[in-house]
Amino acid sequence: MNRPVDVVVIGGGQAGLAAGYHLRRLGIDFVLLDAQTGPGGAWRHAWDSLRLFSPAAYSSLPGRLMPPQAGRPSPDAAHVTEYLSAYERRYELPVERPVRVRAVRRDGERLRVETDSGVRSARVVVSATGTWWRPFLPAVPGSDAFRGRRLHTADYRGPAEFAGQRVVVVGGGNSGAQIAADLAGHADLTWVTRREPRFLPDGIDGRALFDAATARRQALDAGLPDTGGVAGLGDIVAVPPVRAARDQGLLKAQPMFTRLSAHGPVWADGTGADADVIIWCTGFRPALSHLAPLGLRDRHGHIPTAGTRALGEPRLHLLGYGDWTGPASATLIGVGRPARDMAKEIAARLS
Ligand code: FAD
Repeated sequence: MNRPVDVVVIGGGQAGLAAGYHLRRLGIDFVLLDAQTGPGGAWRHAWDSLRLFSPAAYSSLPGRLMPPQAGRPSPDAAHVTEYLSAYERRYELPVERPVRVRAVRRDGERLRVETDSGVRSARVVVSATGTWWRPFLPAVPGSDAFRGRRLHTADYRGPAEFAGQRVVVVGGGNSGAQIAADLAGHADLTWVTRREPRFLPDGIDGRALFDAATARRQALDAGLPDTGGVAGLGDIVAVPPVRAARDQGLLKAQPMFTRLSAHGPVWADGTGADADVIIWCTGFRPALSHLAPLGLRDRHGHIPTAGTRALGEPRLHLLGYGDWTGPASATLIGVGRPARDMAKEIAARLS
């Protein structure tokens, strides 16, 4: 058994680091366990042309501004990984990796954290494991019949391997638009979205999304009408590569198909297209399987929380994942506030 600690943080991506920053400031004894071989969390796995939807300064964790990236108003994923790596070093955050947490169980007054390299005992556990590790693919009739490759956003690395191939990109969010823009001109592209793509006006970036998410949460908390939040603004931030492809007329979307045949998508009117590859840019779900022994999930697969604290287990906090753990808490700039509030709550509990 490793040394018992007061707090185990599971995950060393941006959410885990923001938690570490605030726990350290409050003098709490903690350790971060991260399954990756190096810093950066999900950003280590993103494709080269991915661009942040906010300028660097608006993509910062608490305490330290992200420096701008030379020549890039919208930084890329490698820049974020470098920033997170420097952040970890600067605040001397005690990250152990690669350590994968397999299960968290109740163990009397404490929680037992079972990992692939031993057991940790903690008074409080923070789960900050993100979503990248649980790609979501919708069920579409005929999926098994399709003979081409079936990929997800999480598998995409760049356009080179698709040169000249017939590629269908599914999804009208930022990932779908950015990957479609990346492939346009390299592959024979069909972009498919459930509704007409909704680009945010040029010049509106992640700052506006953050403000909208915060305003919505504040309105709901105050019992005021739902402001609609981010959804009211549009779905796609027109980062420079997306804007360029759109302006060249390369981002024309088809409606969603109703089924797949062996050869590719088939639409409701019976027309079809041949495809070598389908890339599903259809989102992610929270990576929570290590918490299964605690039996806390609701029927939507979420763990109900008050702020970040699990309602069914007050020694467990969830950070990141989505708005249900704090407004915009799955973004770089948004995770700082819930991390701060969480650290205060943990300090009160430990004392
Ligand atoms: P992650 O980065 O996924 O980190 C979780 C860490 O926990 C990982 O290192 C993982 O290996 C580890 N882990 C998981 N399970 C275990 C386990 N059982 N045991 C131990 N370790 C474990 N946000 C922005 O602010 N700006 C953007 O422009 C932006 N663009 C995005 C574009 C895309 C395509 C996507 C998918 C997301 C984007 N986001 C953006 C959202 C957000 O910033 C990321 O999803 C972010 O990676 C979430 O950070 P996290 O720390 O919660 O999770």
